[in-house]
Amino acid sequence: MLVSLPALNDNYIWVYRRENFPVIIVDISEVTALLPFLQENQLDVEAVLLTHKHDDHVAGVAEFKKYYLNVPIYGPAETLDKGATEIIDQGIIFTKHYQIKVIPTGGHTEQHVSYLVDDHLFCGDVLFSAGCGRVFTGNYQQMFDSLQTLKSLSGNTILCPGHEYTLSNLKFTAKVWENNHLIEKYIQQVEQYRLENKPTVPTTLEFEKKINPFLQTNSLEDFIALRQAKDNF
Ligand SMILES: [Zn+2]
Repeated sequence: MLVSLPALNDNYIWVYRRENFPVIIVDISEVTALLPFLQENQLDVEAVLLTHKHDDHVAGVAEFKKYYLNVPIYGPAETLDKGATEIIDQGIIFTKHYQIKVIPTGGHTEQHVSYLVDDHLFCGDVLFSAGCGRVFTGNYQQMFDSLQTLKSLSGNTILCPGHEYTLSNLKFTAKVWENNHLIEKYIQQVEQYRLENKPTVPTTLEFEKKINPFLQTNSLEDFIALRQAKDNF
């Protein structure tokens, strides 16, 4: 089971479960939809994973902890005062039923991490469909390196980003890649999905390599130019 619960304006809270094991939750911006979802589906929670410190990814953690007292909450050191109970930066997390690979993906924030669980990549605000995160408290070199790392994962990897940004990202992509048939077709599809209020993610790394200009920059210089053009778009 893989569910993207819409939260705030355009955030997603991801809930993942293999077989009938307790679920893993990635980022908790708020609990409004999350608590009823867990209760109605009678789901136990094995762990919470936090990608980075921004409020729209962690502001619901304190409230969540009131209901789920003993669930471990993993996150980078920057999330310690946001409710993380287990500080991680890289390596493998072993929970009772899952092996979770922690991949350092700084750049959006300095300590941002992504989590790989059974070929699902929970990549927070580093990589989006057709785009990538803004560089806030990290730096361009770090962000460029993070994207190169994620790009090297298997093409079958299922990308589960933290926001529904696909349509606005594609509008930028259509400007930098004029007359690209694949992008034009994908825009139509995404517009239809959004009209029906459906999420446009998850996506796959294989597909993103074809439609995401940030995965096609091969030098830091090109990446900075593209990122700054998007910031000013
Ligand atoms: Zn963020």
